[in-house]
Amino acid sequence: VVEAMKASLEKNGIADQVQIVLTGCMGPCDMGPVAIVYPEATFYRRLKPKDADAIVEEHIMKGNLVQRLLYRTPGAKEPTPKVDDIDLFAKQQKIVLRNNFYIDPTSIEDYIANDGYAALGKALTKMTPAEVIEEVKKAGLRGRGGAGFNTGMKWSFCANSKGTPKYVVCNGDEGDPGAFMDRSVLEGDPHSVIEGMAICGRAIGAEQGYVYVRAEYPLAIERLSYAIDKAREYGLLGKDIFGTGFNFDIEIRIGAGAFVCGEETALLTSIMGKRGEPRPRPPFPANEGVWAKPTVLNNVETWANVAEIILKGADWYSSIGTQGSKGTKVFALAGRINNTGIVEVPMGTTLREIVYDIGGGIPRKKAFKAVQTGGPSGGCIPAGQLDTPIDFESLTALGAMMGSGGMIVMDEDTCMVDIAKFFMDFIVDESCGKCSPCRIGTKRMLEILERITTGKGKEGDIELLLELGTTIQKTALCGLGQTAPNPVLSTIKYFRDEYEAHIKEHK
Ligand code: SF4
Repeated sequence: VVEAMKASLEKNGIADQVQIVLTGCMGPCDMGPVAIVYPEATFYRRLKPKDADAIVEEHIMKGNLVQRLLYRTPGAKEPTPKVDDIDLFAKQQKIVLRNNFYIDPTSIEDYIANDGYAALGKALTKMTPAEVIEEVKKAGLRGRGGAGFNTGMKWSFCANSKGTPKYVVCNGDEGDPGAFMDRSVLEGDPHSVIEGMAICGRAIGAEQGYVYVRAEYPLAIERLSYAIDKAREYGLLGKDIFGTGFNFDIEIRIGAGAFVCGEETALLTSIMGKRGEPRPRPPFPANEGVWAKPTVLNNVETWANVAEIILKGADWYSSIGTQGSKGTKVFALAGRINNTGIVEVPMGTTLREIVYDIGGGIPRKKAFKAVQTGGPSGGCIPAGQLDTPIDFESLTALGAMMGSGGMIVMDEDTCMVDIAKFFMDFIVDESCGKCSPCRIGTKRMLEILERITTGKGKEGDIELLLELGTTIQKTALCGLGQTAPNPVLSTIKYFRDEYEAHIKEHK
């Protein structure tokens, strides 16, 4: 599409008057490839190379909208030409994805022109390390990888830890089925992650960072490594940054596809070139992390928030969101929903707003049944809870989890026992096998689910699932195992009748 657009601009002799910027992901997956034509911000979707002439000759040269390429809300008669009026974008607030709409991720100049690296400059020249940590703490930023621990607190534990050298690590091993938030940040705005890590390096006294990215994200790896090279070239990574004597550099480590390497202790072990298996905590990474030295580990989305907090201040950041969960959250909308893709909303937005106002509702006028949040560690939230404001606490109270932000929407035709089986199957495959509750317990749970869904369920199977699930939650070694029963337990809690119907059918 880009090549066709360039050729059309050339052919019409206006190539020097129109700039084409190839940005990162803008979020609307099922509408891609998309283009926004400025200054009007007209949104065109599902483009093919053959559409380039229409956009150039009709819109750009004559000022007429190309009707057939405009977005239409399902059921609406009139199209919605302006990007900000489209349901998918209207209720979003972008902090993490602030640049994905506008900048070329391969251009450090674009990033700098949008205030990029200004926060690092501020942290290095106008703030002490303690003030940087205090600002992040005051902002109330909580880790976006799942557990939701206060980021500033984590940094202060590491800064106060005795060992040296210290390390900064980015978890880019996004492995939840249906999740692609981190991928979209790394591909669309890699400098925001680099800048956040460098600010943390300054705050805790670290000179080395690692980004652990899964091998399944080749474009993210390519963009990130190019961005690291450019930042070095511009003196924003490496020795004596901004002439302040601060040294900081970043290396990329590529994961080989094991889901368990998203667990922090397994990830740190894998960075050191060892088999990626979790280990008991304590010691926590803030005291003993990579190379057994104090380490701050946060995920991609958390890092992408940091520069904005330093630049605009903790008060600005903490004014967004809810009492206990500040800022925004990026979600990947997938499953039975009209607008699939990436969205960023203030914490406290209700599920109903996400599913209906932003997601455009359920296709073919089917009824909403449930949404699975948090991937294999999360749970299913039923229709009765649609007005729940989304934050860390409310999701946990419902037996689900924020997780990293995957949201899979299910309609009335979905079998919830099948969903539970799907996630359990995934976990059995991905369990590292180090501890028996997870290695053996999840396998037994899967066998029971298989028997129920194939009409061989027995009386007592639901109770057995509950007993196994709660035991695994209490006894598994790492977060992967401890949360693995959640999809089964939450579907039994809200959809027990479906389990019973499967079993009854057999009898
Ligand atoms: Fe490995 Fe599962 Fe035990 Fe974690 S809970 S250490 S993934 S076997």
